[in-house]
Amino acid sequence: MNNATNLIANDAKSIVQAHLDRLGESKDSHLTEEVKQEKFAQIKAELEKQNAVLVAHYYCDPEVQELAELTGGCVSDSLEMARFGRDHPAKTLVVAGVKFMGETSKILSPEKTVLMPTLEATCSLDLGCPVDEFTKFCDEHPDYTVVVYANTSAAVKARADWVVTSSCAVEIIEHLDSLGEKIIWAPDQHLGRYIQKKTGADMLLWDGSCIVHEEFRARGIETMKALYPDAAVLVHPESPESVIEVADAVGSTSQLIKAAETLPHERLIVATDRGIFYKMQQAVPNKILIEAPTAGEGATCRSCAHCPWMAMNELDGILEVLQKKDQEIFVDSALATRAKLPLDRMLSFSAALKQQN
Ligand code: SF4
Repeated sequence: MNNATNLIANDAKSIVQAHLDRLGESKDSHLTEEVKQEKFAQIKAELEKQNAVLVAHYYCDPEVQELAELTGGCVSDSLEMARFGRDHPAKTLVVAGVKFMGETSKILSPEKTVLMPTLEATCSLDLGCPVDEFTKFCDEHPDYTVVVYANTSAAVKARADWVVTSSCAVEIIEHLDSLGEKIIWAPDQHLGRYIQKKTGADMLLWDGSCIVHEEFRARGIETMKALYPDAAVLVHPESPESVIEVADAVGSTSQLIKAAETLPHERLIVATDRGIFYKMQQAVPNKILIEAPTAGEGATCRSCAHCPWMAMNELDGILEVLQKKDQEIFVDSALATRAKLPLDRMLSFSAALKQQN
């Protein structure tokens, strides 16, 4: 497994670099307020005309999140995006995020048209878990229950028994462990290790990683803590183990926003994609949010603390796809039927969990 996935991970790095070289920085961040409002009005009119709703991830640029809020869409983590898209009456979902999110929406809402501003927006975790190698690995361990993170292709989900997101992963693994099941976990090794440590479950880990979270370093965070001793450290569990160890709160994007609200600290050092600052600052308007330092301020670090694929979701792309409908998500129906089973399992489990809490 190691050789295969290392190879793919290297490949993923060059794809990231190619995207960055081609696209440069997001153009939206340079918009004047007037131009931004004009674009908002155009997109809003088009969404209404097409009976469409915008579903955006927390890691998108602030303009895209603002637009989703303004037009009655949703800004959330991937679990909530999936639920919102499934339950919303709109005929068309415009998913601002990365490809697996569009695929998940299509699997859960096959009757809806699912568009994305660009189908090129992917994820290093998805790239690092090719279905052929993963299937082979699972077939070699037939007595293991296969649990995959949402950040995987529809084909990988179709091979799984369960899909999880970071907001329900610990509880689902705890549940499976209580049933005495041994678990194959893919693709994020850091999240897998974190869950394994927390639950004590018997888990075999795939060795994928997120190119954004992998850049955070405990040493840099400790240096920052020395500067701001009154600050709390919030960490997403896709970060390396040493970074998780220095955290005051560890959790999914939604859980980190909640932690920002409940922790008494006025200053927060945040180790996840900086896109989260838009909603986190809304939740805690009087607190000071600080980006956790990443490994390199050097040559390879243009993507640090902001996902280059999430950054591909721009206002022009949203308008264009509504007009041209050329970036549509399709999932083979047999594959979708198979992939829906572990997704439905997760949604039912997390709905029951929500009711209990
Ligand atoms: S932030 Fe990481 S996990 Fe999220 S989409 Fe980007 S590469 Fe994938």
